[in-house]
Amino acid sequence: MNQSPSLINQAALITGSDSGIGKGVALALAAAGAKVVINYAHNHDAAEEAVNQIIALGGEAFAFQADVSHEDEVKAMFAQMFERYGTIDILVNNAGLQKDSKFVDMSLDDWNKVISINLTGQFLCSREAAKEFIRRGVVEDRSRAAGKIICMSSVHEVIPWAGHVNYAASKGGISMFMKSIAQELAPHKIRVVGIGPGAIQTPINKSAWDTPEALDKLLTLIPYNRIGKPDDIGQLAAWLASDQADYITGTTIFMDGGMTLYPGFADNG
Ligand code: NAD
Repeated sequence: MNQSPSLINQAALITGSDSGIGKGVALALAAAGAKVVINYAHNHDAAEEAVNQIIALGGEAFAFQADVSHEDEVKAMFAQMFERYGTIDILVNNAGLQKDSKFVDMSLDDWNKVISINLTGQFLCSREAAKEFIRRGVVEDRSRAAGKIICMSSVHEVIPWAGHVNYAASKGGISMFMKSIAQELAPHKIRVVGIGPGAIQTPINKSAWDTPEALDKLLTLIPYNRIGKPDDIGQLAAWLASDQADYITGTTIFMDGGMTLYPGFADNG
Protein backbone atom coordinates (compact mmCIF):
# COMPACT_ATOMS: atom_id res chain seq x y z
CA MET A 1 0.00 0.00 0.00
CA ASN A 2 1.31 3.45 -0.90
CA GLN A 3 1.53 5.47 2.33
CA SER A 4 2.71 8.83 0.97
CA PRO A 5 0.31 11.28 -0.66
CA SER A 6 0.77 11.35 -4.42
CA LEU A 7 0.30 14.41 -6.59
CA ILE A 8 2.00 12.95 -9.65
CA ASN A 9 1.11 14.65 -12.95
CA GLN A 10 -0.85 17.39 -11.13
CA ALA A 11 -0.26 21.10 -11.65
CA ALA A 12 -0.30 23.35 -8.59
CA LEU A 13 -0.28 27.12 -8.16
CA ILE A 14 0.81 28.42 -4.75
CA THR A 15 0.37 32.15 -4.26
CA GLY A 16 3.08 33.91 -2.28
CA SER A 17 5.48 30.98 -2.46
CA ASP A 18 8.83 32.76 -2.61
CA SER A 19 8.89 32.86 1.21
CA GLY A 20 7.72 31.28 4.44
CA ILE A 21 4.70 28.97 4.50
CA GLY A 22 4.03 29.24 0.75
CA LYS A 23 7.55 28.11 -0.05
CA GLY A 24 7.20 25.20 2.41
CA VAL A 25 3.96 24.21 0.69
CA ALA A 26 5.51 24.48 -2.79
CA LEU A 27 8.43 22.24 -1.77
CA ALA A 28 6.11 19.65 -0.20
CA LEU A 29 3.74 19.59 -3.20
CA ALA A 30 6.69 19.25 -5.57
CA ALA A 31 8.13 16.43 -3.43
CA ALA A 32 4.76 14.66 -3.79
CA GLY A 33 5.09 14.91 -7.58
CA ALA A 34 3.26 18.12 -8.53
CA LYS A 35 4.50 20.63 -11.10
CA VAL A 36 4.32 24.00 -9.38
CA VAL A 37 3.99 27.70 -10.11
CA ILE A 38 5.86 29.89 -7.64
CA ASN A 39 3.88 33.14 -7.46
CA TYR A 40 5.52 36.17 -5.85
CA ALA A 41 4.81 39.85 -5.30
CA HIS A 42 8.25 41.52 -5.46
CA ASN A 43 11.21 39.30 -4.64
CA HIS A 44 12.32 37.83 -7.97
CA ASP A 45 15.57 36.34 -6.59
CA ALA A 46 13.76 34.52 -3.77
CA ALA A 47 11.23 33.12 -6.26
CA GLU A 48 14.02 31.87 -8.56
CA GLU A 49 15.76 30.32 -5.54
CA ALA A 50 12.54 28.39 -4.72
CA VAL A 51 12.29 27.25 -8.37
CA ASN A 52 15.93 26.11 -8.33
CA GLN A 53 15.44 24.18 -5.09
CA ILE A 54 12.54 22.28 -6.66
CA ILE A 55 14.44 21.59 -9.88
CA ALA A 56 17.45 20.37 -7.85
CA LEU A 57 15.14 17.85 -6.18
CA GLY A 58 14.04 16.57 -9.60
CA GLY A 59 10.80 18.57 -9.75
CA GLU A 60 9.30 21.05 -12.20
CA ALA A 61 8.57 24.70 -11.41
CA PHE A 62 8.53 28.23 -12.77
CA ALA A 63 8.11 31.63 -11.12
CA PHE A 64 5.48 34.24 -11.97
CA GLN A 65 5.16 37.75 -10.56
CA ALA A 66 1.57 38.80 -9.93
CA ASP A 67 -0.21 40.85 -7.30
CA VAL A 68 -3.11 38.60 -6.28
CA SER A 69 -5.30 41.64 -5.57
CA HIS A 70 -5.13 42.75 -9.22
CA GLU A 71 -7.57 40.96 -11.50
CA ASP A 72 -5.56 41.49 -14.70
CA GLU A 73 -2.37 40.12 -13.12
CA VAL A 74 -4.19 37.08 -11.73
CA LYS A 75 -5.69 36.34 -15.17
CA ALA A 76 -2.26 36.71 -16.81
CA MET A 77 -0.77 34.27 -14.26
CA PHE A 78 -3.43 31.62 -14.93
CA ALA A 79 -3.02 32.11 -18.71
CA GLN A 80 0.74 31.52 -18.36
CA MET A 81 0.15 28.44 -16.19
CA PHE A 82 -2.29 26.97 -18.74
CA GLU A 83 0.20 27.62 -21.53
CA ARG A 84 3.03 25.89 -19.62
CA TYR A 85 1.18 23.09 -17.81
CA GLY A 86 -2.08 22.85 -19.78
CA THR A 87 -4.36 23.13 -16.74
CA ILE A 88 -4.52 23.45 -12.94
CA ASP A 89 -5.31 20.71 -10.40
CA ILE A 90 -4.42 22.41 -7.10
CA LEU A 91 -4.64 26.05 -6.01
CA VAL A 92 -3.15 27.10 -2.70
CA ASN A 93 -4.34 30.60 -1.76
CA ASN A 94 -1.48 31.50 0.54
CA ALA A 95 -0.40 35.11 -0.20
CA GLY A 96 -0.98 37.39 2.75
CA LEU A 97 0.40 40.20 4.84
CA GLN A 98 -0.17 42.23 7.99
CA LYS A 99 -0.46 46.03 8.42
CA ASP A 100 -0.89 46.35 12.15
CA SER A 101 -2.04 49.29 14.23
CA LYS A 102 -4.44 50.21 16.98
CA PHE A 103 -7.99 50.17 15.65
CA VAL A 104 -8.59 53.90 16.15
CA ASP A 105 -5.34 54.72 14.33
CA MET A 106 -5.87 52.32 11.42
CA SER A 107 -5.86 54.04 8.04
CA LEU A 108 -8.34 53.14 5.33
CA ASP A 109 -5.34 52.31 3.12
CA ASP A 110 -4.07 49.72 5.60
CA TRP A 111 -7.54 48.25 6.02
CA ASN A 112 -8.07 48.01 2.23
CA LYS A 113 -4.59 46.65 1.53
CA VAL A 114 -4.94 43.72 3.92
CA ILE A 115 -8.50 42.86 2.86
CA SER A 116 -7.66 43.11 -0.85
CA ILE A 117 -4.57 40.88 -0.70
CA ASN A 118 -5.63 38.39 2.01
CA LEU A 119 -9.31 38.02 1.05
CA THR A 120 -10.03 39.46 -2.41
CA GLY A 121 -6.86 37.76 -3.69
CA GLN A 122 -8.34 34.40 -2.66
CA PHE A 123 -11.57 35.27 -4.49
CA LEU A 124 -9.79 36.24 -7.72
CA CYS A 125 -7.53 33.17 -7.81
CA SER A 126 -10.23 30.69 -6.73
CA ARG A 127 -12.60 31.97 -9.41
CA GLU A 128 -10.04 31.38 -12.18
CA ALA A 129 -9.17 27.92 -10.82
CA ALA A 130 -12.82 26.89 -10.40
CA LYS A 131 -13.68 27.86 -13.98
CA GLU A 132 -10.92 25.59 -15.25
CA PHE A 133 -11.84 22.72 -12.88
CA ILE A 134 -15.46 22.87 -14.10
CA ARG A 135 -14.43 23.12 -17.77
CA ARG A 136 -12.09 20.13 -17.51
CA GLY A 137 -13.79 17.89 -14.94
CA VAL A 138 -12.25 14.86 -13.30
CA VAL A 139 -9.24 13.24 -14.98
CA GLU A 140 -9.40 9.67 -13.63
CA ASP A 141 -5.69 8.84 -13.58
CA ARG A 142 -4.74 12.07 -11.78
CA SER A 143 -7.22 12.57 -8.94
CA ARG A 144 -10.71 11.62 -7.78
CA ALA A 145 -11.54 15.35 -7.61
CA ALA A 146 -11.86 17.79 -10.50
CA GLY A 147 -9.77 20.22 -8.47
CA LYS A 148 -8.62 21.21 -5.01
CA ILE A 149 -8.49 24.69 -3.47
CA ILE A 150 -6.64 25.23 -0.19
CA CYS A 151 -7.25 28.55 1.56
CA MET A 152 -4.52 29.64 3.97
CA SER A 153 -6.38 31.06 6.91
CA SER A 154 -5.06 31.42 10.47
CA VAL A 155 -5.96 30.72 14.07
CA HIS A 156 -7.24 34.31 13.79
CA GLU A 157 -10.16 32.91 11.84
CA VAL A 158 -11.49 32.17 15.36
CA ILE A 159 -9.21 34.02 17.84
CA PRO A 160 -9.89 37.78 17.96
CA TRP A 161 -6.73 39.89 17.65
CA ALA A 162 -6.60 43.40 19.06
CA GLY A 163 -4.23 45.64 17.14
CA HIS A 164 -4.67 43.50 14.01
CA VAL A 165 -8.37 43.93 13.17
CA ASN A 166 -7.83 44.14 9.41
CA TYR A 167 -5.90 40.85 9.47
CA ALA A 168 -8.36 39.05 11.77
CA ALA A 169 -11.30 40.29 9.66
CA SER A 170 -9.61 39.00 6.50
CA LYS A 171 -9.13 35.56 8.06
CA GLY A 172 -12.68 35.43 9.44
CA GLY A 173 -13.80 36.34 5.92
CA ILE A 174 -11.74 33.51 4.45
CA SER A 175 -13.61 31.05 6.66
CA MET A 176 -17.05 31.88 5.20
CA PHE A 177 -15.62 32.38 1.71
CA MET A 178 -14.07 28.90 1.86
CA LYS A 179 -17.23 27.23 3.22
CA SER A 180 -19.55 28.99 0.77
CA ILE A 181 -17.56 28.08 -2.33
CA ALA A 182 -17.07 24.54 -0.97
CA GLN A 183 -20.87 24.20 -0.81
CA GLU A 184 -21.31 25.64 -4.31
CA LEU A 185 -18.51 23.68 -5.97
CA ALA A 186 -18.91 20.25 -4.33
CA PRO A 187 -21.38 19.04 -7.03
CA HIS A 188 -18.59 19.71 -9.56
CA LYS A 189 -16.28 17.38 -7.57
CA ILE A 190 -14.18 20.33 -6.41
CA ARG A 191 -12.88 20.25 -2.84
CA VAL A 192 -12.19 23.45 -0.90
CA VAL A 193 -10.45 23.35 2.48
CA GLY A 194 -8.86 25.82 4.86
CA ILE A 195 -5.64 25.54 6.83
CA GLY A 196 -5.47 27.52 10.06
CA PRO A 197 -1.82 27.80 11.08
CA GLY A 198 -0.84 28.90 14.56
CA ALA A 199 2.59 30.49 15.00
CA ILE A 200 4.85 29.39 12.16
CA GLN A 201 8.44 30.65 11.98
CA THR A 202 8.47 32.97 8.94
CA PRO A 203 9.36 36.61 8.14
CA ILE A 204 5.74 37.75 8.76
CA ASN A 205 6.09 37.27 12.55
CA LYS A 206 9.89 37.60 12.99
CA SER A 207 9.57 39.92 15.98
CA ALA A 208 7.62 37.18 17.82
CA TRP A 209 10.48 34.63 17.68
CA ASP A 210 13.81 36.32 16.90
CA THR A 211 14.88 36.91 20.52
CA PRO A 212 14.75 34.32 23.35
CA GLU A 213 12.46 36.64 25.36
CA ALA A 214 10.01 37.03 22.48
CA LEU A 215 10.00 33.28 21.82
CA ASP A 216 9.40 32.48 25.52
CA LYS A 217 6.42 34.84 25.51
CA LEU A 218 5.08 33.27 22.31
CA LEU A 219 5.44 29.76 23.74
CA THR A 220 3.06 30.62 26.59
CA LEU A 221 0.37 30.63 23.87
CA ILE A 222 1.36 27.20 22.47
CA PRO A 223 0.57 24.19 24.71
CA TYR A 224 2.71 21.91 22.54
CA ASN A 225 5.63 24.23 23.37
CA ARG A 226 7.29 24.68 20.00
CA ILE A 227 6.95 27.11 17.14
CA GLY A 228 5.72 25.60 13.86
CA LYS A 229 7.83 25.34 10.70
CA PRO A 230 6.77 25.94 7.08
CA ASP A 231 7.29 22.24 6.41
CA ASP A 232 4.62 21.34 9.02
CA ILE A 233 2.09 23.23 6.91
CA GLY A 234 3.63 21.91 3.68
CA GLN A 235 3.05 18.29 4.73
CA LEU A 236 -0.56 19.02 5.68
CA ALA A 237 -1.21 20.82 2.38
CA ALA A 238 0.24 17.91 0.36
CA TRP A 239 -1.99 15.48 2.21
CA LEU A 240 -5.11 17.68 1.89
CA ALA A 241 -4.50 18.04 -1.85
CA SER A 242 -4.13 14.28 -2.30
CA ASP A 243 -6.82 11.64 -2.74
CA GLN A 244 -6.07 10.44 0.80
CA ALA A 245 -8.15 13.47 1.88
CA ASP A 246 -10.80 13.01 -0.85
CA TYR A 247 -13.73 13.16 1.59
CA ILE A 248 -12.67 16.46 3.20
CA THR A 249 -14.29 19.65 1.99
CA GLY A 250 -15.61 22.86 3.53
CA THR A 251 -13.70 22.82 6.78
CA THR A 252 -10.58 24.41 8.26
CA ILE A 253 -7.89 22.18 9.72
CA PHE A 254 -6.05 24.03 12.48
CA MET A 255 -2.36 23.21 12.77
CA ASP A 256 -1.30 25.23 15.76
CA GLY A 257 0.29 23.16 18.55
CA GLY A 258 -2.89 23.75 20.55
CA MET A 259 -3.06 27.55 20.24
CA THR A 260 -6.85 27.37 19.75
CA LEU A 261 -7.27 25.42 23.04
CA TYR A 262 -7.54 28.61 25.17
CA PRO A 263 -4.17 27.94 26.89
CA GLY A 264 -4.90 30.73 29.40
CA PHE A 265 -7.44 28.36 30.98
CA ALA A 266 -4.98 25.46 31.41
CA ASP A 267 -4.25 26.20 35.11
CA ASN A 268 -7.35 28.22 35.81
CA GLY A 269 -9.97 25.52 36.50
P1 NAD B 1 5.73 35.62 4.50
O1 NAD B 1 5.82 37.08 4.70
O2 NAD B 1 6.95 34.78 4.63
O3 NAD B 1 5.08 35.30 3.08
C1 NAD B 1 4.05 36.08 2.54
C2 NAD B 1 3.99 35.76 1.08
O4 NAD B 1 2.90 36.50 0.51
C3 NAD B 1 5.25 36.15 0.31
O5 NAD B 1 5.61 35.08 -0.51
C4 NAD B 1 4.81 37.33 -0.55
O6 NAD B 1 5.44 37.34 -1.83
C5 NAD B 1 3.34 37.06 -0.71
N1 NAD B 1 2.56 38.25 -1.01
C6 NAD B 1 2.37 39.37 -0.26
N2 NAD B 1 1.60 40.25 -0.92
C7 NAD B 1 1.29 39.67 -2.11
C8 NAD B 1 0.53 40.07 -3.24
N3 NAD B 1 -0.08 41.26 -3.27
N4 NAD B 1 0.44 39.23 -4.29
C9 NAD B 1 1.08 38.03 -4.29
N5 NAD B 1 1.81 37.60 -3.25
C10 NAD B 1 1.91 38.42 -2.19
O7 NAD B 1 4.60 35.14 5.53
P2 NAD B 1 4.00 33.70 5.87
O8 NAD B 1 4.00 33.57 7.34
O9 NAD B 1 4.63 32.64 5.06
O10 NAD B 1 2.48 33.91 5.42
C11 NAD B 1 1.85 33.13 4.42
C12 NAD B 1 0.37 33.00 4.75
O11 NAD B 1 0.22 32.27 5.98
C13 NAD B 1 -0.36 34.31 4.94
O12 NAD B 1 -1.66 34.23 4.38
C14 NAD B 1 -0.46 34.43 6.46
O13 NAD B 1 -1.56 35.21 6.86
C15 NAD B 1 -0.64 32.98 6.82
N6 NAD B 1 -0.35 32.66 8.23
C16 NAD B 1 0.92 32.77 8.72
C17 NAD B 1 1.16 32.45 10.05
C18 NAD B 1 2.53 32.49 10.67
O14 NAD B 1 2.64 32.32 11.89
N7 NAD B 1 3.60 32.70 9.92
C19 NAD B 1 0.11 32.03 10.88
C20 NAD B 1 -1.18 31.97 10.34
C21 NAD B 1 -1.39 32.27 9.01
